[in-house]
Amino acid sequence: MKQYKNFRSVITSQIWVQETTSRHNTLCSQPDCYSNCHVQCNLGFSLNAATFLQCAAMGGGTKCLQCNHSYDTHRHYNSLWKLKDHSQDKVDRDAEAKYKKAKREKNNHETTIVDLVEKSLDNMKEKLKVVKAANEKVKGSIGMPKVVEAANEKTKGNVYQKHIIED
Ligand SMILES: [Zn+2]
Ligand SMILES: [Zn+2]
Ligand SMILES: [Zn+2]
Repeated sequence: MKQYKNFRSVITSQIWVQETTSRHNTLCSQPDCYSNCHVQCNLGFSLNAATFLQCAAMGGGTKCLQCNHSYDTHRHYNSLWKLKDHSQDKVDRDAEAKYKKAKREKNNHETTIVDLVEKSLDNMKEKLKVVKAANEKVKGSIGMPKVVEAANEKTKGNVYQKHIIED
């Protein structure tokens, strides 16, 4: 079992998080773009896309020099993108499956042994019943000595007769 126990491991990856800042910055709002295009942008805080044509990040054009996205995907945010270490529990599915299978088989095996023991116990109980019944019969026979004696006489007779024929 031990070889399957280490299927859990911690993996450390880096994820982008937004860290709050006291001043506003021009960031790109394009999905999967984590560019801090103009940190501490000197333009007044704006939510109007046209404002960003004036942002230094565009360099006078319509495309951002930092991230190559259009000016109209840019916004002012009081935050900056930062990479942060992120620890995560990683479960090795394959090893976990093996572990669970091995555990299940062990349980099945134990159940089988219990079943076998129970079955043989039942068998023994049945046999005990038969032996008890036989004992009762024997007791009954003892209670009738005449019958037994008569049977013995018969046997003796048989043996004697057989002996004579063989001679
Ligand atoms: Zn961008
Ligand atoms: Zn700017
Ligand atoms: Zn940009």
